[in-house]
Amino acid sequence: MQAFKVTCKVCGAEFDLPEDVMDGELTSCPTCGTKYIVKVSKDKLELEEFKGDVEDYGE
Ligand SMILES: [Zn+2]
Repeated sequence: MQAFKVTCKVCGAEFDLPEDVMDGELTSCPTCGTKYIVKVSKDKLELEEFKGDVEDYGE
């Protein structure tokens, strides 16, 4: 098992996402609380800032 390490664009903190994280999954920085949508491509993972309301995301 291997976790993905990502860096928060706002505060620069590094945090891990699980290996089985899904494309479009919502996550948030444990340090500053900025919310992100996870974008998964072939072998890398990007964070896109999530501006909307979590209530509307329809999880
Ligand atoms: Zn942060």
